[in-house]
Amino acid sequence: MAVLEKKSSQHSIELEKKYGAHNYHPLPVVLRRGEGVYVWDVEGKKYYDFLSAYSAVNQGHCHPKIVGAMMNQAQTLTLTSRAFYNDKLGEYEQFATGYFGFDKLLPMNTGAEAVETALKVCRKWAYEKKGIAENEAQIIVCENNFHGRTTTIISFSNDPVARKNFGPYTQGFIKIEYDNLVALEEALESNTNVAGFLVEPIQGEAGVYVPSEGYLAKAKALCEKHNVLFLADEVQTGIARTGQLLAVDYENVKPDILILGKALSGGAYPVSAVLADDPIMEVIQAGSHGSTFGGNPIAAVVAMAALEVVRDEKLAENAFELGELFRAELNKYIEHSGIVKLVRGKGLLNAIVINDSEESETAWNICIALKENGLLAKPTHGNIIRFAPPLVMNRAQLLECVDIITKTLKEFE
Ligand SMILES: *Cc1c(COP(=O)(O)O)cnc(C)c1O
Repeated sequence: MAVLEKKSSQHSIELEKKYGAHNYHPLPVVLRRGEGVYVWDVEGKKYYDFLSAYSAVNQGHCHPKIVGAMMNQAQTLTLTSRAFYNDKLGEYEQFATGYFGFDKLLPMNTGAEAVETALKVCRKWAYEKKGIAENEAQIIVCENNFHGRTTTIISFSNDPVARKNFGPYTQGFIKIEYDNLVALEEALESNTNVAGFLVEPIQGEAGVYVPSEGYLAKAKALCEKHNVLFLADEVQTGIARTGQLLAVDYENVKPDILILGKALSGGAYPVSAVLADDPIMEVIQAGSHGSTFGGNPIAAVVAMAALEVVRDEKLAENAFELGELFRAELNKYIEHSGIVKLVRGKGLLNAIVINDSEESETAWNICIALKENGLLAKPTHGNIIRFAPPLVMNRAQLLECVDIITKTLKEFE
């Protein structure tokens, strides 16, 4: 009988395969519990989580403070919609705007929705404040970007799998090379209808590409010179991941529009946000944008708790220190390695590049071997493996993980 059937990894995998759309290709591991830096599979095997749900679980799995806030609120009031006020949203907006240093916050749920919101705010600002003629606004984006999966966002992706057969695409985007200030300047100078520049401070999905030092500050200055908004997508890099609260903090850049998601809730609940100052955010008026779940009281208390954890447990400082240690340790190994070309990253957002073609199975096979050895990671693109553990890790745990990783890599030399 089905109810008596023993739960096994294979059973869960088969159910997903049979009844779920095949829009992901997961590593063959079925997780049922998480705590801090660890997750356990249904057979009871324990792993270090080195993906952190794409940097959503920066505060560690099932953080008691975040889960506690969520449970209390879930028993009190879950959703009112914005047709009525709730007693938590304003408190959260006050807290988060103070925390990040902006006048206003617009609450959404997923990262892609927050990016969409930022694009809409930027366009509306262009027409109502900058004076661009209707339907003429252009937004500059970067090659190899990842900003989510909506129709508009994939319109300016250059990942063929993400785009193919999803057309027709949304217009109004100019694509330039990432980390190329000359290209940005040319795009700004050759077009008077540019409204904004949307950029990831580090390109995470593309394979953890860290731009040259000074790129973000100079790009921001170019935007200012041309009266163009600087939109920072910190959905993956934000909330202490890279060793600062925001990755733009390394260059003292204040974006005109800041986009947050993922770890804004510590992975407990879908919470995203767009932050901006009044002269920009005031273009959004009643009825012009919204979301039934955006700003719900559970999201509000969860986000406050998640941000308090980042501050109280000094996660940015910890990510900075452990990141330095991680790259130093891996570099010692790489000096004598034929299989790993390099390690790069900032804080605890890092990647290694495997010395094999993008089409090869090597990175995937290394991830399978890492899993056998008790550590979960996944390739980003072909031959690149991202390493992004929860930021609540300690030094001893990190060194144990370095051991697991180097021991595993040796099997492939
Ligand atoms: C994950 C991610 C998104 C999309 O977030 P979802 O919650 O998956 O919609 C957008 N931008 C960046 C940089 C991301 O890493």
